[in-house]
Amino acid sequence: DGRINGIKSALRVIPNFPKPGIMFQDITTLLLDPKAFKDTIDLFVEHYKHENISVIAGIEARGFIFGPPIALAIGAKFVPLRKPKKLPGEVISEKYILEYGSDCLEMHVGAVKSGDRALVVDDLIATGGTICAAINLLERAEAEVVGCACVIEVPDLKGRERLRSHGKELYVLVE
Ligand code: 5GP
Repeated sequence: DGRINGIKSALRVIPNFPKPGIMFQDITTLLLDPKAFKDTIDLFVEHYKHENISVIAGIEARGFIFGPPIALAIGAKFVPLRKPKKLPGEVISEKYILEYGSDCLEMHVGAVKSGDRALVVDDLIATGGTICAAINLLERAEAEVVGCACVIEVPDLKGRERLRSHGKELYVLVE
């Protein structure tokens, strides 16, 4: 698809951010390019519009950029999965292990219902730890997780294999 090259060239890499040795994939330059940003959303919508998805679950913070336009286009509700202590209502929490330390995602109780068909959206998958925590939250609330969508995949970090072992499909635009 010719649109992928435009998306690729709208992304940039910032070396040594946030720590020495890390090559940070920066999606903010994609947002400065209205055609590439629209193509990104359109590709996700084309991939998922016939999957009967009722929930887009966006992971804080960059899943909040890509998730809502997909939700509006396919007529699904948007559910934010947030870092601890941000959501005001009653929550369920899922801890997950990072390379150094751990983190946690939270979701409002009642945001998804048994029988909801959910798509998890984030900007980037590396180890897959964050997305697996999102899947666990949604499944604990009895939603069916139909797939996971990211703009960027870092293939060396084996997130795709990790999702496959959960039986989940991963759709990415750029490696
Ligand atoms: P994982 O849990 O798959 O190892 O890491 C993915 C999470 O970390 C995502 O929520 C993603 O936003 C964030 N992340 C890790 N590295 C990068 C990066 O280089 N660029 C961006 N934009 N996000 C990253």
